Amino acid sequence: MSTYVCPNCDYVYDEAKGDPREGWPAGTPFIEIDPDWTCPDCGVREQQDFNLLNADGQRSETDIAAEAARGEDYA
Ligand SMILES: [Zn+2]
Repeated sequence: MSTYVCPNCDYVYDEAKGDPREGWPAGTPFIEIDPDWTCPDCGVREQQDFNLLNADGQRSETDIAAEAARGEDYA
């Protein structure tokens, strides 16, 4: 199971927990979520924009750099 974080607001989707509020039961793989689904917290980022968190829960340097580059579009 993996977790994914919204690059806009830091909302975290945990595959093990799902997000029943959004209609995704616990255990729903992130790749099975509709790519048109938008972040429930900010409504800005879509499923494919989310960043995979490393196993230790920290974002990789690459993801952080990519986030910084993309973030300017929504500043
Ligand atoms: Zn968000």
